[in-house]
Amino acid sequence: MAYLNVDEIETALQSLAAEYPELTELIELPHPTHEDRRTRCLRIGADPDRNGVLLLGGVHAREWVPPDALVSLAADLLEAGTLGTGLVYGNHQVPAERVQQVLEGTNLYVFACVNPDGRRHSQTVEPMWRKNRRPHPAGGICTGVDVNRNFDFLWDHTALFHPDADVATSADPCDRRQVYRGPSAASEPETRNVVHLLDTRPGIRWHVDVHSFVPVILHNWGSDEHQTTDPEQNFRNPDFDGLRGIPGDTAYREYLPAADLDDEVALGTAMSDAIRQVRGDEYPVTPAFGGLYPTSGASDDYAYSRHFTDSSRSRVLGFTIECAHSFQPPWAEAEDVIREVSAALLALAAEVAERTDREEPASVDQKGTS
Ligand SMILES: [Zn+2]
Repeated sequence: MAYLNVDEIETALQSLAAEYPELTELIELPHPTHEDRRTRCLRIGADPDRNGVLLLGGVHAREWVPPDALVSLAADLLEAGTLGTGLVYGNHQVPAERVQQVLEGTNLYVFACVNPDGRRHSQTVEPMWRKNRRPHPAGGICTGVDVNRNFDFLWDHTALFHPDADVATSADPCDRRQVYRGPSAASEPETRNVVHLLDTRPGIRWHVDVHSFVPVILHNWGSDEHQTTDPEQNFRNPDFDGLRGIPGDTAYREYLPAADLDDEVALGTAMSDAIRQVRGDEYPVTPAFGGLYPTSGASDDYAYSRHFTDSSRSRVLGFTIECAHSFQPPWAEAEDVIREVSAALLALAAEVAERTDREEPASVDQKGTS
């Protein structure tokens, strides 16, 4: 085996949809990429009305394992569910009853390769390519946007963060770190395809963007440290523009309701525990700000921010898994990482499948304008 190329990923999702029509739905994403590729998301679940988990892979081109991990998980889950068997990932076992529980109790929205143009470029031209392939007159490093800096969450970092905040994004298309945020929030077709799923599938209540590498499991927020007591300190409040993103201060910390924090830590820990059982790897659970660096325009914070901006939207808890110990490990190592990611995501799915409540979107009473 070897890493899937972008055509093989799309074909795999289409084949699974054809093979398991009772358990799947193939969702064609509406926005073609800059190189005119179409992408698909495979919904897996027996009951489309159940709540679900959005799984993203391949946002960053050079991170080769996550798309393969998501395709592998989809195939495993559908096969085991149909045969009535369990799944084994290293020393982690998923009993047959839990496979059925996942298929009946929730939906997995598998968007395995968000940025196929970038992946193709990484796999055939420049292995360390990170961005998409948005054209730029100068070409070279100036081509492309970092899709995970392009979401509409504190996107304009120069206006909204402290001047000294070390935000890992850039307004310069030619930034050598490949963290160009794009010409405007959600300017990129890859970004808008993710937004489309969140907009059209209100059952999505959890969001996991699978990246590499650290390893670590991140939860909201990435913009600053969080606090649970002052709802006024929030990303929409212009009173705090120019103050965000400084570690260790109290001038601004992002509001995170205590119940959501507890839930994110509990679900993150369930994923981390499952991973440890596979082969002993430690994936600590940490807020995104503390885990790496301040971020803006990232998918996990955008997903969670949506219900604060518009209280009619579902609340979506946001996670990022940074899997593996390198971007493109040898295939034998990649297989172990795929087992870890699969174990983690099935653990999360099993946790949320037990939740039968149809909780209304949280009513939000916050100051600020979006
Ligand atoms: Zn990444």
